[in-house]
Amino acid sequence: MNNFKAGFVNIIGKPNVGKSTLMNGLVGERLSIITSKSQTTRHRIMGILNGEDFQIIYSDTPGIIDAPQYKLQESMNTFVTGSLRDADVILYVIDIFETIEENSAFLEKLKNNPTPALLIINKIDLDKKSELDAMVQLWSELNIFKQIVPISALEKFNLGGLFTTVKELLPIHEPYFETDALTDKPERFFVSEIIREKIFQNYSKEVPYSTEVEVESFKETDDKIFIQAIIYVERDSQKGIIIGKQGSALKKIGIQANKDMEQFLAKSIDLRLFVKVRPQWRSNPRDLKGFGYTE
Ligand code: GDP
Ligand code: MG
Repeated sequence: MNNFKAGFVNIIGKPNVGKSTLMNGLVGERLSIITSKSQTTRHRIMGILNGEDFQIIYSDTPGIIDAPQYKLQESMNTFVTGSLRDADVILYVIDIFETIEENSAFLEKLKNNPTPALLIINKIDLDKKSELDAMVQLWSELNIFKQIVPISALEKFNLGGLFTTVKELLPIHEPYFETDALTDKPERFFVSEIIREKIFQNYSKEVPYSTEVEVESFKETDDKIFIQAIIYVERDSQKGIIIGKQGSALKKIGIQANKDMEQFLAKSIDLRLFVKVRPQWRSNPRDLKGFGYTE
């Protein structure tokens, strides 16, 4: 197989433009969590697409944040900068509402980066005023992108066209991973992502951003998986909010998470959730390391 193509394709862009939806559409599995709140994807998540003569390794990165507020955000930006360097192809995702000015800092970085980059204009299903042509014209004048690809990740419009373009840009290379690999993240990671997704869907304001989930144990038997997870918060008051009146709020997210896990892992799940306070975890380098944000 001497014309096998393989490479790393990194999906980059501001929070909420649809990066996770796009990756899931390209890989065909519900790999990375999607919510309407921004910054829910904290780690780089890989999804691997295998074919007869190719292997594409997609990475979904956390959204780009302009001014780091916490150490956590700094470390998320490091993931993004790193993903410029280790890619064979970059998919820079914007949606039809974005302007060049809003993206200028990052466009500057891209300009000086030798890796071929495609501009993905997402959410064209929302383009009610037919502004797409003018937008394509404007962005192509930047001369940064190899090609501009309008899509709707949600409606899976033009994902096939995008795939063809990506494949053309991939170098000839042996596969990097076993060809039946779906992702490089273990099941435990998805379990904690599902719990985090439920937290984002059920609590408002700063509470979700102050939580982290750790899967303490994951024991699989023939017919059941026993999972214990700890939800860490920064303050006692947040612990109270997460648990809710007589445990009702925690019970609710437990039920929702349990349901999704059963679907994802195709097995009956016994999920136990605990809430603990760990003051200031977002600013503590040791905690960030423990949660896998830094090396
Ligand atoms: P990320 O932060 O860039 O990873 O964005 P997500 O993939 O989590 O998507 C953010 C929100 O935009 C979600 O509510 C998605 O359902 C929505 N979204 C993503 N792609 C599209 C699209 O093509 N059209 C529309 N209308 N909504 C989309
Ligand atoms: Mg995301």
